[in-house]
Amino acid sequence: MPASHFTEPAKKHLGQHFLHERTYVDRIVQAVGPPVDVASGERLVEIGPGQGAITFPLLDRHGALTVIEFDRDLISPLTEAARAHGELTVIHRDVLKVDFTALAEGVRQRLRLVGNLPYNLSSPILFHVLEHAPVVRDMVFMLQKEVVDRMAAPPGSKVYGRLSVMLQAYCRVEALFTVPPGAFRPPPKVDSAVVRLVPLDTTEIGIGHPDTFARVVRDAFGQRRKTMRNALSRVCDADAISAAGISPTLRAEQVPVADFVRLANSLAGGADIR
Ligand code: SAM
Repeated sequence: MPASHFTEPAKKHLGQHFLHERTYVDRIVQAVGPPVDVASGERLVEIGPGQGAITFPLLDRHGALTVIEFDRDLISPLTEAARAHGELTVIHRDVLKVDFTALAEGVRQRLRLVGNLPYNLSSPILFHVLEHAPVVRDMVFMLQKEVVDRMAAPPGSKVYGRLSVMLQAYCRVEALFTVPPGAFRPPPKVDSAVVRLVPLDTTEIGIGHPDTFARVVRDAFGQRRKTMRNALSRVCDADAISAAGISPTLRAEQVPVADFVRLANSLAGGADIR
């Protein structure tokens, strides 16, 4: 890529840390896998292409790519530089305002998402994408390592919490590899890690009442040191927790994802609790 295409310095407020180590670029491209099956309606979408570190190798392999970038200054250099690599579609928008379900409509199948995400927005982006999980086949994201550790944590782990339960209830979560600060310009203060998320089938998820589920998980982890009985006092009593097969004296960090699903389903009965 000609260096002259990108002249603006990295913008801190947009979480810009540009990946420059080829080894990690290659590993991310490998993690996305063989060329997307455009004929069957798959569409590859990158969130936050920046100066194109992952974008151009992805374009070389897949031939076509849609990118979502918020920084106006990057749009024309990206478009220019992409010409030598493949067919780039640029969506200049805040990713949190992108309707992924609408984006998938044209292909009537599913999206493959990839991105070295802006770390200040990583959780909001994950929750936003989850709302569109039925149209997403998989995601390969780079995030702060600490966040990936929380996403993939099993019950009983110190870092098992709301993020672990919310993501694992909807997706298979697989931490892939760690990336050191020196692989980026400018280097972030923390280690990064790449994770693969594969949304589960609706039948596998089994959550009857998403709002109730989200409320139960939020309250249960609201004060980590409290028992389930105390943490959930605004939602249900100890008998309801026992009736779902969970000991009310457990702390939320000891409760497996499936138990949260069963509790939320049994509480909601017919309607969502808000
Ligand atoms: N993919 C590039 C790389 O690996 O070098 C850049 C990654 S950088 C960590 C994050 C990118 O997300 C930046 O290009 C930034 O401008 C973009 N970004 C930040 N906030 C965004 C938002 N709300 N919507 C879309 N893109 C955003």
